[in-house]
Amino acid sequence: MDELINEMRNYAKEYHIPIMDQDGLNFMSDYIVKNNIKTILELGSAIGYSAIMMAKLNPEIKIVTVERDINRYRQAIENIKNAHLEDQITIYLADALEFDTPLMFDMIFIDAAKAQYIKFFERFKGNLNKEGAIISDNLNFHGLVNNHDLIRNRNTKQLVQKIEKYISFLENNDEFKTTFNARGDGVAISIRK
Ligand code: SAH
Ligand code: MG
Repeated sequence: MDELINEMRNYAKEYHIPIMDQDGLNFMSDYIVKNNIKTILELGSAIGYSAIMMAKLNPEIKIVTVERDINRYRQAIENIKNAHLEDQITIYLADALEFDTPLMFDMIFIDAAKAQYIKFFERFKGNLNKEGAIISDNLNFHGLVNNHDLIRNRNTKQLVQKIEKYISFLENNDEFKTTFNARGDGVAISIRK
């Protein structure tokens, strides 16, 4: 396996950076390939791992990714450079709730602060091409969604409640139809009705 990818996984593990797991990534990659997705907006780059994995699927894929943490942003820049993917991946240091782009995308991947998913969805749905998909990660939140007995502290409980609120926002959405998948940590795909 690619040495850089291996290093990124080890780094994420050591520093508790919640990068997407292999199962969720495989599921999303299949979707990208099958639907011929070429332009992606990612919210929450962390160290650039998922952006790099997606970019490697096809040299024609272009990704814009946004990260608000300066250290992770720097790490991501370094990783993207080492992967020679600067032409495919553009990363911005910004809070996604303040970030604006005139570009339109085939896919929007929401993987930033879990409490803000409704806001992200509303802010960026206008940047989605007509046939495009909004993919949301971590909707199972390590198995805690719909399994409150396992929750050990108040912050986690609040976060889980926000995720559940987002799930019902998707379920009751007039514009988008969502399918929920148990792969990885729970990946939802929303497309326009
Ligand atoms: N997509 C990455 C993992 C992202 S982890 C991967 O799978 O490899 C979530 C990241 O979102 C964290 O690095 C966090 O700093 C960032 N984040 C959280 N809220 C954000 C916001 N409002 N704007 C930009 N980045 C945010
Ligand atoms: Mg995630």
